[in-house]
Amino acid sequence: MRESTLQIALAALGISVIGLLIELKKRDNKKNKVKDNDPPIPKRQASIRRYEALILERGSVGSKDYRVHVLQKDTSQRARELSLWHDVPLVAPSAPSSAPASPRNAPPLFNFVCEIPKCTRKKFEVATDETKCPIKQDEKKGVLREFKKGDIFFNYGCFPRTWEDPRHVSKDTGYPGDNDPLDVCEIGIRQIGTGQVRAVKVLGVLAMIDDDETDWKVVAIDVDDRWAPELNDVEDVERLLPGTISFIREWFRTYKIPDGKPPNKFALEERCMPRAYAHGVIRDTHAAYRDLLASGGHEGLHLPADISSLTGLARDSEIVDRRLPLSPAKATL
Ligand SMILES: [Mg+2]
Repeated sequence: MRESTLQIALAALGISVIGLLIELKKRDNKKNKVKDNDPPIPKRQASIRRYEALILERGSVGSKDYRVHVLQKDTSQRARELSLWHDVPLVAPSAPSSAPASPRNAPPLFNFVCEIPKCTRKKFEVATDETKCPIKQDEKKGVLREFKKGDIFFNYGCFPRTWEDPRHVSKDTGYPGDNDPLDVCEIGIRQIGTGQVRAVKVLGVLAMIDDDETDWKVVAIDVDDRWAPELNDVEDVERLLPGTISFIREWFRTYKIPDGKPPNKFALEERCMPRAYAHGVIRDTHAAYRDLLASGGHEGLHLPADISSLTGLARDSEIVDRRLPLSPAKATL
């Protein structure tokens, strides 16, 4: 009798367990069904952030005549060459205001022109003295330059329509500009190709002093990078990707030592300044660029013959002047 009661109890328990498993399975199916019915992620969001252009290489890599040109179709579908310094807008289109990652009051995104892809060492740069400013490998005393230190570990390039004015001494660093567009270190996971233009979020800036010239290094991240939604300022980089800023600083401090040069220095107590300060540097270097255009040029730099042909320059200036903070020298730190 006891034995049969035990058998009944075990059978009942078995049924209960099976019932529970069936119920859990049903819930799981329901969840997946909801997932299947979710609207697909709109692909348009990603494509409108991107700067659509074609990259054309001339000559062979590693030779002095190698150039990377960027072409874009005009309204009549004919490809025209873009100047990477003058024709690419500084401000990138933002994501639609409905996207949760980019609320209406989000800071502007900027177009990053990649010169040197991460994990490579050839020193490519925008040729500011050539027509249409293509990218070429830099030369010193007739020799093509490479980083003797080794491969660079971040994507490196510049912001278009910016200029570090060598006639102007920065109040914050005490040195004049280096006569180049503003440099950018993109810390995303993906490698970006030479000549590619990507929308980035600005996170901070280092005040490097190289050969008694101010050579700002903006730290930024590709807006489509996996980390981008979590990084909004330099303190987020320090917290979530510790070591990144000091590795960048040490890279720039030491990269010329194998060429027999002394280590580079940094102003502002070597600090990586926050996003608002970096925005001030962008604002200043864009203003210097506008002054350069208005004053007709400087020592061999190649400027467009017709400034009115620069599409979106007024819009860039309007957004930069209206939405970015005052210049670093005027801002309260
Ligand atoms: Mg520079």
